[in-house]
Amino acid sequence: MSVLKIERLNASIGGKQILNGIDLTVSSGEVHAVMGPNGAGKSTLSAVIMGKPGYDVISGSVTLDGIDVLAMPTWQRAVAGLHLIMQYPTEVPGVSLQYALAEALKARNASTTDLAARLETEALAINFDPRFLDRPLNVDLSGGEKKRNETLQMAILQPKIAVLDELDSGLDIDALRDCARRVEQLTHDGLGALVITHYSRLLVELRPDVVHVLAKGRIVKTGGPELVEELERDGYAAFAPEEPAAATSARSLDPFADPFA
Ligand code: ADP
Ligand code: MG
Repeated sequence: MSVLKIERLNASIGGKQILNGIDLTVSSGEVHAVMGPNGAGKSTLSAVIMGKPGYDVISGSVTLDGIDVLAMPTWQRAVAGLHLIMQYPTEVPGVSLQYALAEALKARNASTTDLAARLETEALAINFDPRFLDRPLNVDLSGGEKKRNETLQMAILQPKIAVLDELDSGLDIDALRDCARRVEQLTHDGLGALVITHYSRLLVELRPDVVHVLAKGRIVKTGGPELVEELERDGYAAFAPEEPAAATSARSLDPFADPFA
């Protein structure tokens, strides 16, 4: 049983505060959806959890099974059992998928025996063309193929807790279903998942236990799966109201106002 615990997390990028006191706990086998409008801070949250350079933690904590994750370099967080599927998976020319996974498994003291066969089996499970297994990591793959490839890597590495940042972006319906179903199976085997998405479609296959709404760097509402339908119906407007119109528009109502003020 593993627990990722995020407490009162405040974080900034380039001096601009983006996360404003996030509290979130994900345990083994649970699926937590984080939904929210563009620019809410969803990718920032995933980046801070994994330790992407450029993000400053102002205060708060992130622990995995009680161990301070924020003190670790990214590779150590991965070895400890955290995994991120990025919104835009990176292409790594010159590094084969199998080589990267073999090194990652060795770092975890996990077996690399039959890795090629395991890759083939996983590829078949999610309809990832086995010919792509010989390609350098993600190079020249379509958006959907990249996400299948990332899902396959996660299935091989068997992390404790995974953050999926818009697994559904750039995916066609078939790829979405294949990837979501595989992640759902992994959660039945004990994976805890933090599933970031705009849309309810992904959550049809990958059914969340808990749904959080993130707006302006805060979790503004937490509920059960019924919250997904509410968001689908009403949108995010209730949670992230538009900023009040700028002063210029108020002034434009006043015919005597100095237009250069
Ligand atoms: P989401 O994933 O919810 O759409 P992000 O976490 O990507 O949102 O972005 C949150 C906010 O942080 C946005 O206002 C965005 O413009 C800003 N932001 C993201 N990355 C950077 C960066 N590297 N430098 C400055 N601001 C950034
Ligand atoms: Mg994002």
